[in-house]
Amino acid sequence: MRKINLKQFPKVKLIERPSQIQYLKNISKHLGVEVYVKRDDLLAVGYGGNKLRKLEYLLGEAKKQEATHIFTIGAVQSNHARMTAIAATMNGFEAELFLKNSVPIRQSEYHTNGNVLLNKIIDVTIHPVENNEHAYERIAEREKELLAQGERPYVIPVGGSNALGTLGYMDAYFEILNQQNEVNVKFDWIATATGSGSTHAGLAIGQALSPEAIPVKGYSVEPNAQYILDHTLAIANEALKMIGEETLLKAKDLYFSEEYSGEAYGIPSPIHIDTIKWLAKYEGIFLDPVYTSKAFTALIMDIKNGVIKAGSKVLYVHTGGLPGIFAYPQYF
Ligand SMILES: *Cc1c(COP(=O)(O)O)cnc(C)c1O
Repeated sequence: MRKINLKQFPKVKLIERPSQIQYLKNISKHLGVEVYVKRDDLLAVGYGGNKLRKLEYLLGEAKKQEATHIFTIGAVQSNHARMTAIAATMNGFEAELFLKNSVPIRQSEYHTNGNVLLNKIIDVTIHPVENNEHAYERIAEREKELLAQGERPYVIPVGGSNALGTLGYMDAYFEILNQQNEVNVKFDWIATATGSGSTHAGLAIGQALSPEAIPVKGYSVEPNAQYILDHTLAIANEALKMIGEETLLKAKDLYFSEEYSGEAYGIPSPIHIDTIKWLAKYEGIFLDPVYTSKAFTALIMDIKNGVIKAGSKVLYVHTGGLPGIFAYPQYF
């Protein structure tokens, strides 16, 4: 394998050691497939989750540019926004969040608990916005104000999903290859939830660059998700070019499904809630109502439908989102 030089991409350290890989004994027996979970939900900073791997690179770049402020965008209960705010604050930046009220839930906990509460605890500045367009307008205004005061804002896109953020899960792919040797398992599949695309994109470029190619499947957390797949391919290829690779991915290289994603982003279906309860009771692992319950449900269906064959070894990357449980109590 060619050596990839990542030195040009400085990191802020947010992750001390590889996240644990756990074998799910009870569920594996039930499904007839060996199911393992990579516990990125337990990464130590800021309540954990996948965004930390991207933020190591994104905040590293912000530091290199001598930024003073970090801006990002998300839904009211965005895990990405919460982790960005915490990781930025810890590293001496002022964080400002531009949060969209885009999920039609009126229940009070959605607006007060979960990620909203964690944001409040760290006193991060929040700008309520209508949609992405409005968010970028407000960001442009705030940037202008801050620049006039001699400050330097740095904008992180939705979900941390650009080429630089993608490198975080390329790293994770190689971490998984090392862990395979330690636990003496060869995985047949890696599965993850996909929303803004860079978790899937990063794992997929890891696969493409590696002599031990484990296919990676992204399970969409919303329907009508062609745009997510398009964005995933675009940032994967941008990331490959950025690290000096000439062979790019094609759409057919990305395994993707939106089949069990429910009616909309942020709205779980009864089957997703059943999956949360099932995994909690049988394995003591909690999934979240927005991302991981949808992806894990889709993985189970792929196993039941034979898309993933009996006897296979599957690694599910648990991308976090646990605060979301406390914002959705009416579903339980
Ligand atoms: C953001 C998020 C995802 C999706 O990851 P992307 O890289 O945006 O596709 C999955 N799970 C959780 C819990 C998340 O917060």
